Amino acid sequence: QNQRRRLHIVFLPFPAHGHISPMADVARLLSSSHGIKATVITTPLNVPLISQPPNDVVLHIKTIDLPYAEAGLPQGCETLTSLTLDLCDAFQRATIMLQGPFEIVADMLFPWVPRSAAKFGNIPTIVFYASSVFSLCASECMRLYRPYDDVSTDSEVFVVPGLPGEIRMMRMEVEDFVAKSEEPEFRSFIEEAKEFCVRSYGLVVNSFYELEHHYFDFYRNVLGNKAWHIGPVSLCKRDKEEASMEEHECLKWLDTKKPNSVIYVCFGSMSSVPESQLGEIAMGLEASGQQFIWVVRKTKKEEEQEEWLLPSGFEERTQGKGLIIRGWAPQVLILEHEAIGAFVTHCGWNSMLEAVSGGVPMITWPGYADQFYNEKLVTQVLRIGVPVGAKKWSRFEKDDVKWDAIEKAVKRIMEGEEAEEMRNRTKMLAQKAKEGMEIGGSSCSDLNALIQDLTMSCC
Ligand code: UDP
Repeated sequence: QNQRRRLHIVFLPFPAHGHISPMADVARLLSSSHGIKATVITTPLNVPLISQPPNDVVLHIKTIDLPYAEAGLPQGCETLTSLTLDLCDAFQRATIMLQGPFEIVADMLFPWVPRSAAKFGNIPTIVFYASSVFSLCASECMRLYRPYDDVSTDSEVFVVPGLPGEIRMMRMEVEDFVAKSEEPEFRSFIEEAKEFCVRSYGLVVNSFYELEHHYFDFYRNVLGNKAWHIGPVSLCKRDKEEASMEEHECLKWLDTKKPNSVIYVCFGSMSSVPESQLGEIAMGLEASGQQFIWVVRKTKKEEEQEEWLLPSGFEERTQGKGLIIRGWAPQVLILEHEAIGAFVTHCGWNSMLEAVSGGVPMITWPGYADQFYNEKLVTQVLRIGVPVGAKKWSRFEKDDVKWDAIEKAVKRIMEGEEAEEMRNRTKMLAQKAKEGMEIGGSSCSDLNALIQDLTMSCC
C-alpha cells in the first residue's frame, strides 16, 4: 500500500498494578518517541494506577465498565488487591463480554482477544508477557517433558530438561496448573493464557537481552516464536511514583544511611505474607543486626480487626534501625537509593527488574506461579540472589520460613566476599540495563524492530 497510515496500538492490561503500570509505560514509550498512537483501555477504578506526568497528552486512556451484574461480580471487584480463585471464572466471563467495543487488545491473561481482533480483519495481537522470558521457557519445558513425574517426593531435586543452564527445581515449586489437577478453573485459565502467548503474533517482554540472553535465544530459535525485549520500562518514566505520605520520610531517612547498608522488604502489590510469618521476619531482621525498611500490608484477619500484628515491642526495639511502611511504598525510588543494600522480594517480575535496575541483590521469597522460576533466574543463572528457602504460599503454616533462615540469608547477602561479588554483578547488570535503553542499546533496537514489524504488517 502506497499510503501509510499512522499505527494505532491498543493496550488492554489485566487490572493489577504489576500489569497496568508496565504496560502503560510501554504505551507511553511507543507514543512519545515513535509517533505511534497508543491507547490504554481499563476500567474507571483502575485509571489511578496509570501514573501520568502532569499535562500528558501522549497517552490516550479509554475507560469501560465491567458488566458486573451480568457476570455475577461484586461492584468494583477489579480493584481487588488479589483476585481470589472463586472470582476468577466470573471475572473472565465479564471481560469476554467486553469483546464488542474493542478492536485490538492484549494481556496474556485475556486469551479471548485474538478472536475479537480477527473480526476486524488482519489485526496482529501481541502479548504483553508480564514476567521473565526465562519463566516462560521453563514453564514450556515443564509442560513438554514433565520431569516432576519421575521424582518420588515433592522435595526431590531435578534438572529442568531442555532448558539451558542446568536449572534445578523441586516438584513443590512447579505451578499447580502444570503438576496437579486441583483448581480446574484456575488451571484452564492459566493454560489458555500460556497457549495464547505461543499462538500470538509475538511477545513483548519487559526485560533486556543481556539479562536473559540464553532464554531469548531459546524462545526465538528453539521454541520458534517472536519476542521483543524492550525494558526495563521503569527506567524511562515516572517523574514521581504514586506513594503514600511516608515517601518523603522514608527517602529522607535513607539519606542519613551509609551506601548499601539497608535491607528493603516488600512482597509486591497484591500479597501480604501470612500472619504466621510476620513474627519470623521481625525476629530474623532483628537477629541479623541490619537496618531495614519493611513494607507491611494488612492480612485478612487484620483488616477485619483493624490492627497490625507485629510482635510486641518490635518497633520500639528497632527504632532508628528499622522503618515500617504501612501501605504503599515508593518502591522504584527506594530501590534506586544508594543506601539500599539488598531486597527481600516475593519474586514478582516488576520488583525483580526494578532491583536489577537499581543494582540491588535479592533475598528470594517466592510464593506462587512464575515466582519460583524468577527465583531460579536470579539465584542460579545470574547469581545475584540468595534463596530464603520458601515453600508455596498454599503450604504456609506447615512449611513456614523460620527466623534463623531469614537471619542467615540476610547475613549472606549483606556481609563478606560472596555478598560483595553479588553486589558487583548486580551493579554491572544495572549498567547494562541503562545502556540497553539508550539509543543503539539492545532494548531500544528491539523496540525499533517491533515497530518496523508492526508497520509492515498493518500499514
Ligand atoms: N509496588 C510499589 N509499592 C509497594 C508495593 C509494590 O511501588 O508498596 C510496585 C512495585 O514497584 C512493582 C509492582 O508494584 O512495580 C509489583 O509488581 P510485581 O510484578 O513485582 O508483583 P505483583 O504485585 O504483580 O505480584
